Amino acid sequence: MKKQRQSIPTEQRYSIRDFDHQFPTNDACLEYIKEMRWPDGIAYCEKCEKECKHYRVTGRTAYACEFCGNHIYPLAGTIFEKTTTPLRSWFHAMFLMGATRCGVSAKQIQREIVVTYKTAWRMAKQIRTLMAEEITLEGSSVEMDETYMGGKRKGRRGRPPAGDGKKTCVVGMVERKGRVVALTATDATRETLHGIAQERILPESVVFTDELISYAGLNEINGYEHRRINHSAGVYVLGDVHTQTIDGFWSLVKRGIGGVYHSVSKKYLQSYLNEYSYRYNRRNDSQPMFTSILEQVSLKAGQELKSPSAEVVENPAGSSQEPF
Ligand SMILES: [Zn+2]
Repeated sequence: MKKQRQSIPTEQRYSIRDFDHQFPTNDACLEYIKEMRWPDGIAYCEKCEKECKHYRVTGRTAYACEFCGNHIYPLAGTIFEKTTTPLRSWFHAMFLMGATRCGVSAKQIQREIVVTYKTAWRMAKQIRTLMAEEITLEGSSVEMDETYMGGKRKGRRGRPPAGDGKKTCVVGMVERKGRVVALTATDATRETLHGIAQERILPESVVFTDELISYAGLNEINGYEHRRINHSAGVYVLGDVHTQTIDGFWSLVKRGIGGVYHSVSKKYLQSYLNEYSYRYNRRNDSQPMFTSILEQVSLKAGQELKSPSAEVVENPAGSSQEPF
């Protein structure tokens, strides 16, 4: 099996030096957000009802109309709206979360940007909301697979015992050489898996799965062509009938959650899957990952942040345990 590439391609590298240069101050960060949200500048005052310029208000995260002084707050509706943490620390945390394929822990964020652990944890959680996206796969060949993740580790090295009820079923679908969708699911029954497939895989795709009985009948819905690989018979690759692409994604996530996050509760698992999928789906972008995450600040401003999978699966907040 191919080894998963861990490094970020050269063209995508954006170093901490680049970051320090582009965002030396909180003001530089605020200006960037303003420019994202008003690419042509704030050129109109709703209070005066006329074209005008806006100037930065010293000491506040606001810009004021040159005539009436009406304030515009670029952070309104963004994840930074109510924060007391400096904007540059937020940007730095976003930089860290985009800097590697396998993510960073709240502990690393705490150390690098010097905030309390609690603050670092909350920041990471908020930044993950930026990385949630609802996509439908449009590749003609899609691998679909289910796995189990999460739960609390028993002891230092031990894996959680299977079937203890704490692991969560996760369903993944990936276009070959394309994008991935990973969703927590209540179970791996035929009804659940077929429902998720119909929701996320374009009709008439070729769907590759293993021999799990729940996948049976996929060729009877949505015009899918269903091709199965018999793992239990030791057959992993048979021409193009394999699930190695999704296997690669699972190993990336599992290594990341195991190595970086140690354990993730059911409650938060979807947001971690979103984070890994977001980076995976941009692995070949020429734009730095950090810039992509920043863009989401503006794109998601004013949107209600909800689970992208709420309609298909349940992710009950059954556990109060924190994800570390
Ligand atoms: Zn005005």
